[in-house]
Order: sequence, then structure tokens, then C-alpha cells
Amino acid sequence: MTRLLVLGGTELANRFVAVAREAWPDLEIVLSLAGRTRNPRLPDCEIRTGGFGGPEGLAGYLETEAITALVDATHPYAAQISAHAAAAANSASVPCLHLVRPEWTASPGDNWQGVESNEVAARCLEELSAAHPLTVFLSIGRQELAPYRFLTNCHLVIRAVETPDEADLPPGAKVVLARGPFSEQGEAVFLRENGIDVIVSKNSGGSATYAKIAAARALQMPVVMVERPALPDGEIVETVEDAVRWVAARS
Ligand code: NAP
Repeated sequence: MTRLLVLGGTELANRFVAVAREAWPDLEIVLSLAGRTRNPRLPDCEIRTGGFGGPEGLAGYLETEAITALVDATHPYAAQISAHAAAAANSASVPCLHLVRPEWTASPGDNWQGVESNEVAARCLEELSAAHPLTVFLSIGRQELAPYRFLTNCHLVIRAVETPDEADLPPGAKVVLARGPFSEQGEAVFLRENGIDVIVSKNSGGSATYAKIAAARALQMPVVMVERPALPDGEIVETVEDAVRWVAARS
């Protein structure tokens, strides 16, 4: 019998679990969450919460829990857990799939500057704001704000689902709490009302947070795009349907 461990914390993981449950009501699925979100939306399946204790801990869990297949459906920027998944699956001889939604690609009219990390994005803002102050929409979540704390000539508008820790907040930053999906019209209003000059975004992919990118294009606003970390070697699919086919081939 297949007993599936899904590494989640994303809408994509929840959707995968829901579709897999509908396809095979008897399939055993354990959904694992890091435990950072206070009130996560959860699908109907067994849930476990908290880190495993590195790749060795995860490999041990796979064996103890008799897991027969592992689906890593974590956020594309959660690089550590994806690497651990690949290593643990390898050492426990459990097949592993990475389910990650496709990246956004620039369209005509987009003005993106790709950077490899938040540290580089912050240095880029420092250069852009050298001549005159800038108002920046930081759309990177709440966990990686530290690199932006040293900026002196930028007013930062941070939008996140949950309140960032006080210690991480750049001085003087404005925090807006909101959860997508957002509309292009709403994002255009948000950008204008906050006097935004430049956006910093992750390349999250998907539709829920794409509207700010479309609004930036229409307003000819520059976007500093923090590129995704590389995924570990292994099997990768981009859709829930392909992930369900992968599981079917192993059941
Ligand atoms: P990370 O840096 O790759 O992971 C850090 C550690 O957190 C991992 O080594 C692991 O601890 C634990 N962990 C992460 N995801 C886990 C999961 N699904 N189940 C059990 N343990 C997990 O990841 P992160 O940036 O902290 O992200 C944590 C969670 O938030 C992930 O589930 C991710 O999908 C979600 N998320 C992340 C982002 C983002 O931008 N990073 C955005 C939205 C959602 P051990 O080594 O002890 O096993």
C-alpha cells in the first residue's frame, strides 16, 4: 500500500492532497508543515508539524513511518527542506518528487532586474536610491527582511500574510497585512496610494500574487526579481495532475 509523505506549507501542496484524496480515497497521506504559519489552511488528511532534524531525521521518519513515496511541494524558496528531502529519500530508498509551480517569465513591457538573493536586491536598492529617496514595495514575505535593514534612503512598504517579528523589521518600515489573491486593479491602487517607485518580489509563480507584476508592467514600474534557488537533482513536475500521475505509477 502507498503511504505518502507530502512536504507542504503551500496552496499547491494542499491542492495536490485534495486531488490525490479524491482520486484514491484509501491512499494514506501525511502532510508535513514547518509550523511557521499560525492558522494554516489545511486539507483533510493526517498532519504533522515541525522540523525533522535535518536529512538524517527525515530519513529516519521515512523508515519509521513506512513511507513509500515522498512529494516535496514546499515553496520554491524553501531550498533547505527540498535539499533534505532529496538526500533523505535517497538514503532511505524512497522515491521523491519535487512539485513546484512554474516561474513567471518576463513579458514585453516588463522591467525586471533579476538578482540572486535578498542581499543582492538590497544592494541594488542602495544603488538605485543613491541619488534620491525611493519608496519600495517589499513583496518577499516576512522571513527574509534582515538584508534590508541597513537601507537609509528607502521607505519600505512590506506586505505579508502575518506580522513580521519586530527584530527583523527595517526601521521606519510600513507593514501591510494581506493575503492573496490580489487583482491587477487593486494592486495598481495599492502601488499608487503608497507612492511606490520600485517593487522587490520573489518569482513565486502562480496566479495569486501575479497581479502586482501585471500592474507594475502597466505603470512601467521596475521590479527587482529575486531569483529562485536551484532545486536538487531529481524528478520535478510543475502541475498537480503530473504529480498525481507520478503517484499512480508508484501505487
Ligand atoms: P527552509 O529554509 O527550506 O527550511 C528550514 C527548515 O524548516 C528545514 O530544514 C526543516 O527543518 C523545516 N521545514 C521546512 N519545511 C518543512 C515542512 N514542510 N515540514 C517539516 N519541516 C519543514 O524553508 P522555510 O523557508 O523555513 O519555509 C518553511 C515552510 O514555509 C515550508 O513549508 C515552505 O513551503 C513554506 N513557505 C516558505 C516560503 C518562503 O519564501 N521561504 C514562502 C511560503 C511558504 P529540519 O531540518 O529540522 O527538518
